[in-house]
Amino acid sequence: MSATEIVLLRGDITDQDVDAVVNAANSALLGGGGVDGAIHRRGGPEILAECRELRTTRYPDGLPTGQAVATTAGRLPARWVIHTVGPVYAKREDRSGLLASCYRESLRIADELGAATVAFPAVSAGIYGWPLDDAARIAIGTVRDTPTSVREARFVLFDETAYNAFHRAH
Ligand code: ADP
Repeated sequence: MSATEIVLLRGDITDQDVDAVVNAANSALLGGGGVDGAIHRRGGPEILAECRELRTTRYPDGLPTGQAVATTAGRLPARWVIHTVGPVYAKREDRSGLLASCYRESLRIADELGAATVAFPAVSAGIYGWPLDDAARIAIGTVRDTPTSVREARFVLFDETAYNAFHRAH
């Protein structure tokens, strides 16, 4: 197990030429807005077909929050999409353990697949409302502390605000 290099990049996760891209999915696994919408739009119907299959087999009730599962990446440059379900932010409840779990579980799946390079979005920091600085701290801290064979963990931040938050947390 060698050290994982953490790389920060401003850009679109669907452009990334990596082994696996992580999708900030929802539990239904049937597509949505934000990163999820972009991945399904660019990756094409193959990804959704595999997601539907997962719903009828392993996850009839949906993928639980904090867990991760892989599918093909369809027409994306990546080979696999690792879908993970971030927690919706809640002021009155500490759900940071679930957010950390998204990164740990995604790395575990990446190791199972033999993915050496993995691109992550800022899970839960969009529609799910997580404050960016906190989301960035949890993301970077968890990837840094998780033993994995992944050689490069690339955080792909969509806008400057997100990039700056991850930069501060790095
Ligand atoms: P969640 O529902 O987990 O909050 P979102 O997809 O709404 O997930 O947002 C997560 C983060 O991903 C946000 O910071 C959002 O700006 C960003 N994002 C949206 N589209 C893309 C994309 N194509 N590539 C990378 N990041 C993206």
